[in-house]
Amino acid sequence: MGVYEMGSPAVAMERAVIKKMALQFGFDETADGFLTSGGTLGNLTALLALRQIKAGYDAWNEGNADVNLGILVSEEAHYSISRAVKILGWGEAGMIKVPVDDRFRMDVSRLDACYDEAVRKGIRVIGVIGNAGSTGTGSYDPLQAIADFCAEKDLWFHVDAAHGGAAVFSENQRSALDGIQRADSLIIDFHKMLFCPALVTAVIFKRGEDSYQTFAQKASYLWEQEDAEWFNLGKRTFECTKSMMSLKAYFLLKEYGEDFFGKVVDRLFKSAQTLAGMIRKRDTFELLTEPMANIVCFRHLPKDNREPDEHNARIRRHLLEDGRYYIVQNRIRERLYLRSAIMNPFTTPHHFSDLLDEIGKIADHDV
Ligand SMILES: *Cc1c(COP(=O)(O)O)cnc(C)c1O
Repeated sequence: MGVYEMGSPAVAMERAVIKKMALQFGFDETADGFLTSGGTLGNLTALLALRQIKAGYDAWNEGNADVNLGILVSEEAHYSISRAVKILGWGEAGMIKVPVDDRFRMDVSRLDACYDEAVRKGIRVIGVIGNAGSTGTGSYDPLQAIADFCAEKDLWFHVDAAHGGAAVFSENQRSALDGIQRADSLIIDFHKMLFCPALVTAVIFKRGEDSYQTFAQKASYLWEQEDAEWFNLGKRTFECTKSMMSLKAYFLLKEYGEDFFGKVVDRLFKSAQTLAGMIRKRDTFELLTEPMANIVCFRHLPKDNREPDEHNARIRRHLLEDGRYYIVQNRIRERLYLRSAIMNPFTTPHHFSDLLDEIGKIADHDV
């Protein structure tokens, strides 16, 4: 898949998938990109392009030199962003964390102060990352406001839509992504809400030519020219050999279509509302925040003076051992929450009430 002559059908399908998704997100025909092995690698690849384009010098060949580069991200950003920042060699200081509001969205009123503070410390801020939505709580950052800020300061705007980008297929939910069409780059995982067997991630650039900036690298045994050849995908992907991932994404889109995925998203988001409603009604439970997507964070409140974090961690261990339900845990603002990401559209309200009953029973008896 790295070169056209070795995988022409897959390369053509990949082109079709990228072009279709780009239009879906509100970009025009000039947008372009590629598929890659997961959101983690997708974020890294996009950030490499961001650096090459916004650093103001040839960072690919000269390295970071003595310039301290950095980006602004929500404190709820996925860990792959901090990993990418550190791989880029910017260190801890290169990731400037913007606080979140009570629904765990980036508090954009703090952007200016965070930017100024970074500049004062000698960091050249070159981009902002928006969450759509965040992994922890499924919160969508205010993308329009971030886009405005990036336009004002001439910064790159990258959107991590690995999980929540699927909302683009839903008439009811796509407003959460309002502003994503102004991003310079974005990623979306097909293996999150789009039913794809792992791994298939799209990295899409508003201006297709930007996608060639990631690896300004020569590999003359594979291709003769240094031009932007869309069909030699290896020029732009981290991978050289790559699995035929376009096959999965292409056929899922072709066979089921946008309406189907819109319905899946609607169903999953509604399920989260249902679960949240049930949690709110039970006074032995606490809901962290109203879900914006298909992710619900909550915790059980211990009767006696047990330590709540320990109590919920023990509940989760019991659930895991029992094996009927799988939920994860998440530490938010120093407190431990149970986190349910509802991925199966066939999940019913009965499953939720049964889960909550089960947690109640574990709390009463075993813990
Ligand atoms: C899942 C996720 C990632 C990482 O994607 P992988 O495909 O697991 O590497 C990055 N960002 C967000 C917001 C995610 O939800």
